Amino acid sequence: METTNKFLLNRKQNCKNCNTTYKPKSNNSKYCSITCANKVYYKRKFPNTKNIINKKFYCLFCKTKFINKSHNQKKYCNSVCKNKFKRQSNDYKKWYKNYIKSEKFKNCQKKYQLSTHGSKKIKEIRKKYQPILNQKLRIYKKTEKGKRMNNYHCALRYSRKKQRTPKWITKRELFKIKQFYLNRPIGYEVDHIIPLCGENVSGLHVLKNLQYLPAEENRIKNKKFEPYHV
Ligand SMILES: [Zn+2]
Ligand SMILES: [Zn+2]
Repeated sequence: METTNKFLLNRKQNCKNCNTTYKPKSNNSKYCSITCANKVYYKRKFPNTKNIINKKFYCLFCKTKFINKSHNQKKYCNSVCKNKFKRQSNDYKKWYKNYIKSEKFKNCQKKYQLSTHGSKKIKEIRKKYQPILNQKLRIYKKTEKGKRMNNYHCALRYSRKKQRTPKWITKRELFKIKQFYLNRPIGYEVDHIIPLCGENVSGLHVLKNLQYLPAEENRIKNKKFEPYHV
């Protein structure tokens, strides 16, 4: 080892990139510095850098112009745009739907909520946005659609409390019930043909057991079930 070092001490060499003379530190060095070596490497790997580097391109997501500083041609102005574009794709949406249901995600959320940093952040966000949300809800509940949705959720909650929503009910049936509540004509109310908590009978919270009744008639009927008059 010592002999080679002594030999190298007196040797001088020309850099293959910039042609300056320099003292080589090892036997098989070709370039004066790492930057010279990198320049040659990038020229070989990306032969078209001249057309790409320091030129302007349009971002695929936000469609603003940006200057490309890399040897590769970039498609987005920054990593935020890149991630946003990625989240638009259908593959990502599918993956995310499954990921939300997985236990891994739930465990992650629990960990975050229990940690001191996470609980602090959640409290801060709640303080900031809860009043705005409450006000929006108050306005929404006064609209026609809001009233109907409120009615639907009230009925669902009540039927669940009294255990009148069967366990075999499907999501499609629940959706149809929701539509039934939303399409209620003005002046009418949604009524259970067989009441959920009648005196002698108890019906189920399913689509077949629902009907529209004028508000006045519904007041009179109220929990009574007369099979011969229906
Ligand atoms: Zn050089
Ligand atoms: Zn962008």
